Amino acid sequence: MVGYWPTLEFMASTIQALPTEVVYLITAGEVIDSLASVVRELVENSLDAGATRIVVSIWPQLWRVRVADNGCGMNLDDLQQAAAAHSTSKIHSSADLWKITSLGFRGEALHSLTTLADLEIFSRQGGEKAGWQVVYGNGGEVVQVEATAIAPGTVITVANLFANCPARRQGLPPTAQQMKAVQGIIQQIALCHPHVTYQIWQNDREWFTICPAATVGQLLPQLLPQVRQADLQEVKLELPQRQNSALMLVIGLPDRCHRHRPDWVRVAINGRMVKSPELEQTILSAFHRTLPRDRYPVCFLHLAISPDQINWNRNPAKTEIYLNEISYWQEQITQAINQALRISESNIKESVHTTRVSKLLKAAEEKGSYNLNSKNANCDTQYYLKAVAQVSNTYIVAEHSGGIWLVEQHIAHERVLYEQLCDNWQLVPVEPPIILYQLSPGQVSQLQRIGLDIEPFGEQLWAIRNLPGMLQQREDSAEAILELSWGGDLQTAQVAVACRSAIRNGTPMQLPEMQKLLDDWQRTRNPRTCPHGRPIYLSLEEPALARFFRRNWVIGKSHGI
Ligand code: ADP
Ligand code: MG
Repeated sequence: MVGYWPTLEFMASTIQALPTEVVYLITAGEVIDSLASVVRELVENSLDAGATRIVVSIWPQLWRVRVADNGCGMNLDDLQQAAAAHSTSKIHSSADLWKITSLGFRGEALHSLTTLADLEIFSRQGGEKAGWQVVYGNGGEVVQVEATAIAPGTVITVANLFANCPARRQGLPPTAQQMKAVQGIIQQIALCHPHVTYQIWQNDREWFTICPAATVGQLLPQLLPQVRQADLQEVKLELPQRQNSALMLVIGLPDRCHRHRPDWVRVAINGRMVKSPELEQTILSAFHRTLPRDRYPVCFLHLAISPDQINWNRNPAKTEIYLNEISYWQEQITQAINQALRISESNIKESVHTTRVSKLLKAAEEKGSYNLNSKNANCDTQYYLKAVAQVSNTYIVAEHSGGIWLVEQHIAHERVLYEQLCDNWQLVPVEPPIILYQLSPGQVSQLQRIGLDIEPFGEQLWAIRNLPGMLQQREDSAEAILELSWGGDLQTAQVAVACRSAIRNGTPMQLPEMQKLLDDWQRTRNPRTCPHGRPIYLSLEEPALARFFRRNWVIGKSHGI
């Protein structure tokens, strides 16, 4: 899998000026317009250099940024060329524009920085005995070179940013806001490159650190502290039908986390966060009717796409792209999200995680006295939910070999019926017709919109000659139709019908009936939440129970261990 993701293999090739015809092909534009953009350009260079540890130091009041990395470094020849206009080691010809696997390729950042700030680079290439310190003049020419002793890697310092254009500084927001932008940029980069350590300093004090993680799912709780790893589900799809393509997705499970803004619907392509309204919309649609009203999912999508399918040249910050075959990608994304939303053997997770249980777990893990094999707990468990009892005429108690669940009967049934209605919105004739009184023109057209056959039947009377099949046998069908007439789209109507038809809480159920409901519910596409976004089940998995009951206190056989 790793092979698909941004290779970022550093190029041993030397830095060269791009031929003029390539320069013309590249979107010209200002890449440096803020402290955050300086950080972005320098950190991206570090990643392109294969760094696994990046230290960013910012002194906002001094308009100074320093980025130190343990990447491949530059030799003296490279250093002399690095800040010249249109100089890059990453592409050499126009054909290379279709083979971009690095984050940079325009050879503009360092050069722009020399015209807007003071630039100094320390660098030592791996394998060389010493490094070099180079100071650049306003235009990228080298004005000072000295041999220096540094560890392999590169340290780039940009100072006095925009000193020669005070209007630029004045146009920028207050420091706090700029620093927020810096933090945002680093978080975005970290999501795309989770294997790297990022240490960020502000005014000589450590500000925050992002520790490397094997997967984005493991990294994300560092960026969103209210989200735990157990609240997330990751999906990786290899796409053999497309060369060099793969899809990686991490979502917040809708019964565990959501946001009041769509600020965590994020899309990255080949190692870079992009703005893609089409793909963002696809993500939002895939979560349709799984979240509470006006709530938005947590979702980070990373696509690895063959570089010849992408044109990064749409804008200089490379956040907008032209992507070929967008509908193919939309389909893959929808499938991947559907997969992540299902409850399967591989993604049963503890939903109850009280602070006490978490603390116990932590303490136990520190002592090393538990050997909770999460693979055993999560993946190998035979996943069959068996109804064992009903509690309060409301909850179905279900067991499977790895734990106990409580399933709320009404909303589980509502989810089942809602999906049936979405798949098959069947209207059946009624004879005699249902008669409704005093409908407004709006109500009449609403009923027509969702497919009902309605006609005047006399003074202030209307006859309804068909209705959703599910309502057919109900005594309250007139009331139900009245409810549908109050507006909303077809899906709102489907939710209303499902809710009305679903078994009420408070209704006693027999085991076979409960079992049927559990079976039907498990087969739904989005079993975690009802169409209003409420969680449907509470799980108590065996590891949590074992922790709670201190099953590690091996006291004696008589205690039933
Ligand atoms: P680009 O990244 O588009 O190539 P830049 O102006 O950002 O252009 O950088 C110019 C060149 O300087 C890069 O192509 C790379 O060879 C070299 N370079 C810049 N930063 C680093 C770094 N941190 N480590 C190694 N090489 C670097
Ligand atoms: Mg660059």
